[in-house]
Amino acid sequence: MELKSKTAGMRVIIVGGVAGGASCAARLRRLDENAAILMVERGPYVSYANCGLPYHIGGVIEKEASLMVADEHTFRSQFAIDVRTGCEAIKISPGTKTVDLRSVATGEVTTEPYDKLVLSPGASSIRPLLPGIDLPGIFEVRTVPDARAIREWIERGSTFLAGMHRYSGFQTVRPKTRAVVVGGGFIGLETAENLIHRGFDVTLVEMGDQILAPIDAEMARIAEGYLERHGLRLALNDGVAGFEQGDSGALKVLTQSGKVHPADIVILAIGVRPDTALAKTAGLEIGQCGGIRVDEHMRTNNPDIFAVGDAIEVKDFVTGEWSLVALAGPANRQGRIAADVIAGRNSRFRGTQGTAIIGFFGGVAAWTGVSEKTLKRIGDTDYEKIYLYPNSHAGYYPGARPIAMKVLFRKSDGRLLGAQALGEDMVDKRISALAMAVQLGATIYDLEESELCYAPPFGSAKDPVNFAGMIAADVLRGDMPLSHWDATATGFLLDVREPAELAVEDEPRAVNIPIGQLRARLAELPRDREILIVCRSGQRAYYATRILLQKGFKARTVAGGMLSRTHASTFWTR
Ligand SMILES: Cc1cc2nc3c(=O)[nH]c(=O)nc-3n(C[C@H](O)[C@H](O)[C@H](O)COP(=O)(O)OP(=O)(O)OC[C@H]3O[C@@H](n4cnc5c(N)ncnc54)[C@H](O)[C@@H]3O)c2cc1C
Repeated sequence: MELKSKTAGMRVIIVGGVAGGASCAARLRRLDENAAILMVERGPYVSYANCGLPYHIGGVIEKEASLMVADEHTFRSQFAIDVRTGCEAIKISPGTKTVDLRSVATGEVTTEPYDKLVLSPGASSIRPLLPGIDLPGIFEVRTVPDARAIREWIERGSTFLAGMHRYSGFQTVRPKTRAVVVGGGFIGLETAENLIHRGFDVTLVEMGDQILAPIDAEMARIAEGYLERHGLRLALNDGVAGFEQGDSGALKVLTQSGKVHPADIVILAIGVRPDTALAKTAGLEIGQCGGIRVDEHMRTNNPDIFAVGDAIEVKDFVTGEWSLVALAGPANRQGRIAADVIAGRNSRFRGTQGTAIIGFFGGVAAWTGVSEKTLKRIGDTDYEKIYLYPNSHAGYYPGARPIAMKVLFRKSDGRLLGAQALGEDMVDKRISALAMAVQLGATIYDLEESELCYAPPFGSAKDPVNFAGMIAADVLRGDMPLSHWDATATGFLLDVREPAELAVEDEPRAVNIPIGQLRARLAELPRDREILIVCRSGQRAYYATRILLQKGFKARTVAGGMLSRTHASTFWTR
């Protein structure tokens, strides 16, 4: 069956009907009433919220229907888009400009011509060939049917277990079931949290030495402490070696270190890789990260074929490196840009900063731009970092919570490179503001001057974003020479906290002179050595640094004070 053109308009086929594909289709219709648009989707649904799947598993989003953003009917009636679900694109023939489509239900293959083709096939879950990986009870979280299968498995398991102890007559409380989540990225963590909400005893196995790989290890430690406090068992530095099923039907997750984690359900969240199978049938260029290579207009090396979303590789906005970033925001924007370009507009994708956020048990981690480990990996040494722990809003207004922030910026010109933040309140708006600043090429001097919302319940007259700018600018202007804990081995360490604080957490190498006594006790300090000053968070150390510098000492503030020494869990209040 040939794709019908409403007028003599362009024929556009879009492969993949979720984030990138659906936003491309809807945008294209808004720009071009005459185009004949066909959107094909292999799965049973279009335009659904895969980001909501972990919360559906946990019952926070109770109804599956709530995940459906727009259905086939909406696309047909409101946008006049021909939508075919259960329809897989299996081959592109660039010479004849046709796509072969196969019905998932019947296997029937049809061929459709296109003038422009957009690929938004997403990514597929990484599923290593481990022994036992296909055993029942091992799931991934990618689609609505995946989430449905997990919910059914859990409900069946609970009924079985509940029935067992009703029968035994000994226990009155339904026992916890055990879950193992493999992978400490955001899908793994969100699913782990939701399984804990459902009463599971959850172990998260992660091969790396930290969870949340995009952020730096010391910031991830803060999240790890919080998650453990809320009942998640973390098994880091240990890869899964295989799976077995015991006599009772329960699973065993075997790790490379020889551990065995029993489980009634296993969630695989090891990561994703771009789905490039279809692109390869057209001989499209695949880049060095394994994603479809596109230009800033989302055009592949074939001028009539565009690609967007998780399937492509993108330029990192800060480093300019090719990278893979599987996030909904970029996929939606790229879909829109592809539609613009097809409709004759000159839209360009600026690159991806990897801005992301995850919540767990009321805690939040968010980040944007480049991390320190990325800067180290690419050998970039023109950067400085600061740690700060401002309150989420005015400290005198009830409910203020600290936010742990790490901000990276260029030493040479002050350009903001990236930021990571964790806390329990209003972390998102700080990282969103900093994300905007990164994209606009702002400097830390711009952050000093940012005019942001303030009333006591919402912020402070000096917002954490301003604070970050002021601290970083103090460093670059030379008002606050900085040191970091890993460079404190040789200096003279001065602790300006009050004695009562030392009882809570001591730094045995430091000489203690509380800030209020410092001016009177300068004679106790060496003039021939660098004095490295600590307090709890860095603020009093900065005041002390200013005193000592003006009195002719060589002084430096230890960034982030005691809080950044261990990146301690004492930071969390809940
Ligand atoms: C559980 C989960 C939680 C997430 N949470 C977040 C979050 O909180 N924040 C965030 O920014 N991102 C999140 N993401 C990532 C985000 O959903 C993706 O980055 C985004 O959906 C990518 O859009 P896409 O169009 O490239 O691919 P998708 O949205 O995955 O859509 C691709 C579609 O193409 C279809 N398809 C593939 N090949 C073919 C073919 N040959 N023929 C026909 N159809 C085909 C697939 O069936 C699929 O439905 C989450 C993802 C998951 C799975």
